[in-house]
Amino acid sequence: MSSLRNRDIISIGDLSKDEIQAVLDQAANFEQRLARGESHLVAQLLQDHILATVFYEPSTRTRLSFESAMNRLGGRVISVAEAKTSSSAAKGETIYDSGRMLESYADVIVQRHPATGSARALADAASVPVINAGDGTGEHPTQALLDLYTIQREGAGNGLRALDGLHVVMVGDLKNGRTVHSLSKALTNWKVNFTFVAPPQLAMPDEVVAYLRQRGATVQQATELAPALSSADIAYITRIQQERFSSVEEYMKYKGVYVITAAAVAQAKPGIAIMHPLPRVDEIDTDVDKLPNAAYFRQARNGVFVRMALLTMVLGGD
Ligand code: ASP
Repeated sequence: MSSLRNRDIISIGDLSKDEIQAVLDQAANFEQRLARGESHLVAQLLQDHILATVFYEPSTRTRLSFESAMNRLGGRVISVAEAKTSSSAAKGETIYDSGRMLESYADVIVQRHPATGSARALADAASVPVINAGDGTGEHPTQALLDLYTIQREGAGNGLRALDGLHVVMVGDLKNGRTVHSLSKALTNWKVNFTFVAPPQLAMPDEVVAYLRQRGATVQQATELAPALSSADIAYITRIQQERFSSVEEYMKYKGVYVITAAAVAQAKPGIAIMHPLPRVDEIDTDVDKLPNAAYFRQARNGVFVRMALLTMVLGGD
């Protein structure tokens, strides 16, 4: 039985390296089984289980890939896509009360919410496992798992590549972007060098940098993108998080500050993988899409396999 059985997945730091690797291996297993045409067998794994997806913030990939994953495993899904306005939160219901309800309706709850710490609050209330699908500017642990899976899959033929020794460049709104908080923490399970490229006002939070260094990672901070790309194995590009700014004027100061083009990729380290959690606004030019380095749509696809792995391990279908 997986050690993730019945566990809440709130912060990527809650998972050991072995547990993370077990999720990635299981994801590879699901990718292969689906490619071999075993969907009818896979669809027996979580029959009779119900997933609730409760999203107080917009989402396309995270909610739909969780729901797709649960459907592929033969489970059922109940969903509130606009929980802010269409759930009882609009009437003033607390996260605690919502957790006490949802535990009777579903076997696992996936929540996205604008407040940092909200996933932990739900997990404290609900007796069934809670998976954090993004809590404000805090964390997005399942995105980190699919990002790790993508890094292992890119440039590795049919297998999974080793992560030790990689130079990972993270670019954009590193202050407000929860994906880079979780992914950088996750990567400290391996020997990885980081360069964080951001305007000083949007730099990676000090407490995250301190955590990474304390876990042995080498961290450099920069404002110029091109020099970092010349030695990067992975460039992880992020959106300026408009919804976290106090005004449109403030956001406009940073919009478009870094844009990756095909010409920039041509100058970068050969074989570099360009990743992005999506949605993209303007930070990756569409002329990059046709390059073999453009990993972001494969990355989004990988979300289904990784979430299938996680759901089976948490619910005991593995
Ligand atoms: N989709 C990711 C998230 O929910 C990245 C983003 O929104 O920029 O954090």
